[in-house]
Order: sequence, then C-alpha cells, then structure tokens
Amino acid sequence: MNGDPPGRRAELAANLAAVRARIAVACAAASRDPGELTLIAVTKTYPAADVLALVDLGVRDIGENRDQEAAPKAALVAAALAPPAAPSGSVAQTGSIAATGSANDPVTWHFIGQLQTNKAHSVARYAHVVHSVDRVRLVRVLGGAATAAGRELTCLVQVSLDDDPARGGVPGAGAGDVAAAIEAEPGLRLGGVMAVAPLGADPAAAFASLRELSATVRSINASATIISAGMSGDLGPAVANGATHLRIGTALLGNRTPPFL
Ligand SMILES: *Cc1c(COP(=O)(O)O)cnc(C)c1O
Repeated sequence: MNGDPPGRRAELAANLAAVRARIAVACAAASRDPGELTLIAVTKTYPAADVLALVDLGVRDIGENRDQEAAPKAALVAAALAPPAAPSGSVAQTGSIAATGSANDPVTWHFIGQLQTNKAHSVARYAHVVHSVDRVRLVRVLGGAATAAGRELTCLVQVSLDDDPARGGVPGAGAGDVAAAIEAEPGLRLGGVMAVAPLGADPAAAFASLRELSATVRSINASATIISAGMSGDLGPAVANGATHLRIGTALLGNRTPPFL
C-alpha cells in the first residue's frame, strides 16, 4: 500500500464534492434537508488507502459487498486508525470493547452484498449495518453470530422489487416476515429496508414501492426508519422517494474493473 498519493486524494475530494452537489440538487427538488441523508461510499474493488482518504475527507460510512474483500480491508483500516500503542510496561488492554453501535468507531461499515450464511460470523465481527438480510434462516445465523461476537448488528430487509432472485432480496409480500424475525432476534436491531432498482425499470416507481414497504416495516418497529436506496446512477429518484441512505460507488471512486461491476 503506497499511502495516500496526493493525486488520488484530490480526485476523491473532487468526486465527493460533485456527489454532494448532486445530493443537494436532488434534496432541493424534493424539499428535503441534505442532513437527513447518509452517504455510504461503496469501496468494493478499491484499496484500504482509498477508505482512509475518504475518512480523512469526512466520509464516515463505508459499504462493501464481499466478505472476502471486506474483512481484511476493515482490519487494515481499523489498524491504521487505531490510537498509538500504549507504551511498553503499561497494562495491556485485553479483548475488544463490545461494539453495540458505531458512535465511537471512526468508520461505520455497511455490508451491502448477498450474504451466504457461512460468511455471517465473519461479517458480524466488523459490520455495523447489514443491508442484505432477505431470509429468516440468515436472520437466525446472523443473530447467533452477533451475540457470539458481543455486538449488535443493525439489519435492513432487502426487498426484491422485480422478484428476480439473482440479485438477492425477498419479494415484497415476504418483507414483513423477515422484519419480524429480525425484530425478535437477540443481537439484531431492525433498521429498515433496502433495495436495488431493477435493471431496465423506472427507478422512481421501484423506490416508491420500497417506500411503501418501509411503512410495513415501521409498523413492526417505529424506529426502523432507514430506507437504503439509490446508487451512482439513480440517486435523484431515490432522494425524491424518501431514501435515507445512498450507496455510491463509481461516482466517488471511479469505474470498477470487470467482473466486479
Ligand atoms: C456496487 C453497489 C452499489 C454502488 O453502485 P454504483 O453504481 O457504483 O454507485 C450500491 N449497492 C450495491 C448493493 C452494490 O453492490
């Protein structure tokens, strides 16, 4: 890792300013306060150095979609941001403080990709928010993993708005069952809903459906207000339809190399 080359930092700063300007325009059009929105920088395929540069530029929320990539990256970032080691001879701090929220962590990690149950224990060790919870079996495994790690995970119900199972998500009719399972599961906190707009469909219509499903989930827990919607290409319609969290990759970091599109 070659640190934080000034050219890359300047590029990220310019991209961040441009994305924030787009969010401001979308908010003005929708009569919303930009302060209601959380910008998640999706750093998949990009190195830990980019995460550190974004954190230095004021980004606090980082999204990743593959555990194999995210786990080592989160460890590198944590090590780089950790306070300096205590002088030798002082009492070592054993174990880690249970992270029940992100208030004291410099980075809030969002896991946004399809999640196999065999990766749940790894994800539960570094993620704060899991956006891709789409089946009751995954709820159970994640709950056990969070409890074992001494952490509490915020979970969003990922909804499939075109019922295409390839991209993950529970069909809308099943969203309430998954939400109820999260609500009942020790170690998990019901946070809200997430969706990826279907390919080739009108994103505004898709995000309007997601907003309706958000009301169903809020009827289970009124504080489950997160609506994770909107990517680089469709943040405008997402903001117009009540998104609270935007997951922005390419507009911030640049185009990804296949096959990770
Ligand atoms: C990669 C990814 C994003 C970011 O997409 P961009 O088009 O690069 O902004 C958002 N959400 C999910 C689930 C992703 O996998």
